[in-house]
Amino acid sequence: MKVFKFGGASVKDAAGVRNVATVLSHFADDDLLIVVSAMGKTTNALEEVVWAFSEGRPTKPLVEALRSTHETVLAEVAPGDDAAKASLDASFRELQRTLAQRSSGRVDEDYDQVVSLGEVWSTLVVSAHLKHVGIGNSWLDARTVVRTDGSFRAAKVEWQACENLAIRYLQPLFTTRPGRVLTQGFIGRTADGQTTTLGREGSDFSAAIFAYLLDAESVTIWKDVPGMFNADPKRFRDTKLLSHISYREAIELSYFGASVIHPRTLQPLQKKHIPLYVRSFVDLAAPGSTINDVSENDSLIPSFIVKPKQLLISITPRDLSFIVEENLSGIFWMFAQRNVRIDLMQNSALAFSVVVDDSPRSHELIEELRKVYEVRYNEGCELVTVRHYDEPTLAKLTGGREVLLEQRSRTTARFVLK
Ligand code: ASP
Ligand code: MG
Repeated sequence: MKVFKFGGASVKDAAGVRNVATVLSHFADDDLLIVVSAMGKTTNALEEVVWAFSEGRPTKPLVEALRSTHETVLAEVAPGDDAAKASLDASFRELQRTLAQRSSGRVDEDYDQVVSLGEVWSTLVVSAHLKHVGIGNSWLDARTVVRTDGSFRAAKVEWQACENLAIRYLQPLFTTRPGRVLTQGFIGRTADGQTTTLGREGSDFSAAIFAYLLDAESVTIWKDVPGMFNADPKRFRDTKLLSHISYREAIELSYFGASVIHPRTLQPLQKKHIPLYVRSFVDLAAPGSTINDVSENDSLIPSFIVKPKQLLISITPRDLSFIVEENLSGIFWMFAQRNVRIDLMQNSALAFSVVVDDSPRSHELIEELRKVYEVRYNEGCELVTVRHYDEPTLAKLTGGREVLLEQRSRTTARFVLK
């Protein structure tokens, strides 16, 4: 059994959807569980719907645009499939009903009910196309298996419940061979039936969850790039393919912000020693990257990760009392409560400095912190991480720029640059 994941870019239009079928045709004898993200930029568009909804602005034009894109692609890739068309219609009608009501005022909860639909629509379209070209498949609502807690927009997986649900609802779908199950990434459900999401870019994690539950032999993430690189090819020249790295190294890289794989994806895979392949859906002959237990190649190539749009926040007690454990635990609690992730931290006697994404949540948190602390911040920073660094590389990287903060360990150097 293999788990495949196709991201939004791979199903952004009719050609993309057809290409998924082409990829699958190379695996005709394998049992496959296929996880698909929302088409193209659908998730962003649905976020706009949520913001409009919660602010009482009209949502209809936004929803109609989404409906028309999905209907058009469906008509192209699965002409005459009235059942699929009806399912898509029903889902849009339900969305319209939700949006006709007043917002609950709980934005994160509304967000998950609305934004999760992108994955439902894309999988309806892909499933219909696969059937159209003779690739039979069972469409599975991921929410029947992925049980989570109620932390909307950042739901936590309840593993034991998932294992029980998988035995009941997922495994039976593989009794006919080869089994083909098509399902959504990114979404889950609470015990009392509310839809949740796992956090943006969460579909890789979904693939890992399913692989874990099914004891899959491997997970393949199909991307528009031919693997994992030592730096973002859009920012750096002479990037190198990381053809073989360990889970540990990949976790470090994604933790520091490499966007190829969602950071949480690797833990469940590592637990069951399930290898992860990152491969190109445009170039099926390209070897791609393999991530598994083997760590021999990890220290050979320096890797660069750049996170733009960062806030450097410095927190000082008003009475100049030292930042001690009690202060820190209170501060961490406030970050955790608001789901603001700390990308880097450093403390001195009087100040605790952190780097976080510049988001509305971070600014709300700053206001909250200001009730107790003196808080200053620097906007528009870049957080640069270099794994396996050497001095010439660092000099080149930081040359001519203002370094606001610097941190080094044996393997990793990190800079906050202005
Ligand atoms: N569709 C979701 C997003 O764009 C999840 C994913 O693609 O991984 O964030
Ligand atoms: Mg995506």
